[in-house]
Amino acid sequence: MDQYDVAIIGSGPGGYVAAIRCAQLGMKTAIIEKYSTLGGTCLNVGCIPSKALLDSSHHYEDAIKHFDEHGIEIPGEIKVNLEKMIARKQSVVDQTTKGIEFLMDKNKITVYEGVGSFKDATHVSIKKNDGKSEDIEAKHIIIATGSKPSTLPFIKLDKERIITSTEALKLKEVPKHMIVIGGGVIGLELGQVYKRLGAEVTVVEFMDRIIPGMDGALSKELTKVLKKQKIKFALSHKVKSVERKGDTVIVKADDKKGQEVVFEGDYCLVAVGRRPFTDGLNVEAAGVALDDRGKVIVDGHLKTNVDNIYAIGDVIKGAMLAHKAEEEGTLVAEQLAGQKPHIDYNLIPGVVYTWPEVAAVGKTEEELKEAGVDFKVGQFPMRALGRSRASMDTDGFVKILADKKTDEVLGVHMIGARCADLIAEAVTAMEFRASAEDISRMSHAHPTYAEAVKEAALAATDDRALHI
Ligand SMILES: Cc1cc2nc3c(=O)[nH]c(=O)nc-3n(C[C@H](O)[C@H](O)[C@H](O)COP(=O)(O)OP(=O)(O)OC[C@H]3O[C@@H](n4cnc5c(N)ncnc54)[C@H](O)[C@@H]3O)c2cc1C
Repeated sequence: MDQYDVAIIGSGPGGYVAAIRCAQLGMKTAIIEKYSTLGGTCLNVGCIPSKALLDSSHHYEDAIKHFDEHGIEIPGEIKVNLEKMIARKQSVVDQTTKGIEFLMDKNKITVYEGVGSFKDATHVSIKKNDGKSEDIEAKHIIIATGSKPSTLPFIKLDKERIITSTEALKLKEVPKHMIVIGGGVIGLELGQVYKRLGAEVTVVEFMDRIIPGMDGALSKELTKVLKKQKIKFALSHKVKSVERKGDTVIVKADDKKGQEVVFEGDYCLVAVGRRPFTDGLNVEAAGVALDDRGKVIVDGHLKTNVDNIYAIGDVIKGAMLAHKAEEEGTLVAEQLAGQKPHIDYNLIPGVVYTWPEVAAVGKTEEELKEAGVDFKVGQFPMRALGRSRASMDTDGFVKILADKKTDEVLGVHMIGARCADLIAEAVTAMEFRASAEDISRMSHAHPTYAEAVKEAALAATDDRALHI
């Protein structure tokens, strides 16, 4: 039987990063993945393919809506070739997953293809696709089995017209009317893809706002901008049934007055969140405890109740984000090597890759109010930037929340062009416990979208933004 220092079950961004870091630190490492491609949800049916389609659909939207204003005339009709668009997305996925294979090879990590299940706390049985099984032994085991789309108990996903994000990434036609249940990140990103490609899109959300959890000002601005893009919203609507009749999907919901509202479309994307995935893992055999929502319970060191078994990523508590999983993979590897790493969960940024992009780090205004913190706000609109006017991306703002007394930055919330990249500056500043004045005194290249961060910091410091 093959023996390892560490065996990792699941090859998503949590698992494969943990594997690389373990190998870098000199541990004999194995990774087990049930699918034939590595990279997990993120690379195969999550972050990467969704961004590929967001980019393609954005180009199309620019071509049909904005090229003319830029003085670019295209004779003839501009058309979408969805099959080609999906094929390009797949080639991006293939290149990226192959890259992980290369990294496993480079770091001398043994890859097992098959479903891993515990035999006991130090043995994992790997059931391969051909039905054969192989057992391995490991001193330490990291559970990195991720998550799967969840649904509502009364919805029967047929994966043809009542679909999850996985199917929405490979549709064969542009829907006429896509009803999106859930106004969170995944629903909005994929809703925007199909809206740009010509579908009517209605987002039905239980809460009274989209992207709940993010700062209220971001929800408000994103709703406004997406409404301008003609995406429809039914907020405070509780979906109670989803039925398919032929090619039609009928979604019934109660609005906040309890009145029934009926939506009719040809596709319904169920984007109500994701559930931790431990099916087939046989955690009982190792004695690993799960909470009542099926998440693996871990302590502050990401150790389960079993001494040599750890868990990371979507399968444990916290934000379901690829970069959070990666940090956790690194943390566990470094701990196993005797180091003392640390993750500041408050500084894991959250991003929505709609256009305009939405990004945030630290505390929201609502959280600070709730905690009774005395804070000040500095906000700067994107429309006041020369860079935004040059690219016609004038929607959005940067908002900085800073402690009233010490000026320490407590939260940064932004919506606008390239905010997914801009948020890194805020993370860096907050990691070094910068004050708003610190940011305001740093030179920001002109003209850039990043100038909005400086201006918001100036506004927070002394209400002295320069360009408004
Ligand atoms: C449409 C979509 C878009 C997203 N966009 C973003 C984004 O832009 N940014 C972001 O940060 N996050 C995004 N996410 C979330 C991100 O994909 C997840 O947070 C991330 O993949 C979690 O990583 P993980 O390693 O915990 O698990 P996963 O990526 O889910 O990987 C788990 C792996 O374990 C394997 N596995 C499970 N059980 C077993 C077993 N018993 N044996 C062997 N293998 C097993 C699975 O097959 C899978 O490959 C998106 C998700 C979706 C669905």
